[in-house]
Amino acid sequence: MWEISCPACRKLQSETSLATLSQCSRCQCELDSLRDITNAAAGAYVTSQQLLVTGDGPGALEQARISWELRRQPETAQLAFLAALLSADYENADHWYKVAEKIS
Ligand SMILES: [Zn+2]
Repeated sequence: MWEISCPACRKLQSETSLATLSQCSRCQCELDSLRDITNAAAGAYVTSQQLLVTGDGPGALEQARISWELRRQPETAQLAFLAALLSADYENADHWYKVAEKIS
């Protein structure tokens, strides 16, 4: 779902190997932990989307926050903004709007 670049040499890893990715294809840097964190962030992001669709704003916001703490993606900030709006939590909506603007 999200790309992984090697933190040592910056090589973007092939999307076809992300599920089993364990080493950088260029420098052999260990990427297991980065892959696991990215997968966990993507899982929380998808759960947040599903909760948003069902109308559970607070649940969606919590999952978006978890995803954000694991990996900071622009779309996660946008999702958190929508979840906060759905929850009528305008203070958080303002916060996430500013975060989304800053990172995009
Ligand atoms: Zn590398």
